[in-house]
Amino acid sequence: MGGSRILSCPIPGFAGWGSPAELAGDGIRSGVRELPLARFAVGRAAVQRTDDVWLAAAREAPSSQVVLVRDGSVLTTGGGPGADPWGQPDPDVALVVLDPGAAVATAGTVNDDAWLFLGHDDVAWFAVRVPGTGAAALVGSSSDALVHAPPEEPPHDEPVWTPLRAVGAVLSARDAGLATTAVALDQWHTRNLCCPRCGGRTSSAAGGWVRVCQVDGAEHYPRTDPAVIMAVVDDDDRLLLAHAAAWPERRWSTLAGFVEAGEPLEAAVRREVAEETGVVVTDVQYVASQPWPFPASLMLGFRARAQAAEPHPDGTELTDARWFTRTELAAAVSAGDVVPPGPTSIARALIEEWFGGPLLAVRDRLR
Ligand SMILES: [Zn+2]
Repeated sequence: MGGSRILSCPIPGFAGWGSPAELAGDGIRSGVRELPLARFAVGRAAVQRTDDVWLAAAREAPSSQVVLVRDGSVLTTGGGPGADPWGQPDPDVALVVLDPGAAVATAGTVNDDAWLFLGHDDVAWFAVRVPGTGAAALVGSSSDALVHAPPEEPPHDEPVWTPLRAVGAVLSARDAGLATTAVALDQWHTRNLCCPRCGGRTSSAAGGWVRVCQVDGAEHYPRTDPAVIMAVVDDDDRLLLAHAAAWPERRWSTLAGFVEAGEPLEAAVRREVAEETGVVVTDVQYVASQPWPFPASLMLGFRARAQAAEPHPDGTELTDARWFTRTELAAAVSAGDVVPPGPTSIARALIEEWFGGPLLAVRDRLR
């Protein structure tokens, strides 16, 4: 925690890891920037979910607003599958918002299971689930009239299916919240057609927030799987990053893993780091969380301290792991040797909080 780390930081205004005073109180420091998928600007209106009469009327009202969701993607203008990996907010990228009649016409056949009630502000907000292909195919089937196979560079105003994980940081707060909820519910419905208790068929209820078993009447609610993700820093204030076998070449990120049954979050942090790198951590502190509905995770961000020790990647899940100083990370990013995680991810936010500023600035300044 010496002053030398500040001198080594290439970003003006770097605030650092945080003084002991900043880390006092409840242990939660507000240094991490706003997380893209944690934003939500429309009231969730849970009371209306169980009002079938109100919901039916709202689904017919021309004033209601509807977005379309399919296979982890949302229909947008100005987006597309190859969203900018540096992900700066772009007011030209937005959800396609339709009235209910236009949404049904676009989606094709729509049954009750297809409607998701997302919330209410001045109007009611819904998503309509467009039948997916089980893959990331982008060519519309029942919606060819609106959604075409995207060209390499789609015209900016042409509707296109855009993966949420690629565009979450680019959307407005309102659109990011609507899209995250729509994708999360859509993924849950897709995977819960049968009752986990008796195996009977289930059907959607409560505006898409419950599935009810047609055999025994059991109610099932949307599930999320907790996963921990951690910025591990050593006594020299270096950050531990790793490369996983499943990732694209040159992608480096923080360690992460699912919480096991019966396991506290802090223990999951210590276990994952030890299992994957052999590094022992202490001083585990919660930072922030955001949903990661691909298909059902809730990412819980932590920071933790480690004794300076050479990481030993497990060789299966991780193929490489090492400590970075800020100067080393800036050089690696600018040289293209390290491709950081996408801007929608909490991993990117954790890295940039430690780094003291956006990695985009490094890339642009050093080019
Ligand atoms: Zn059942």
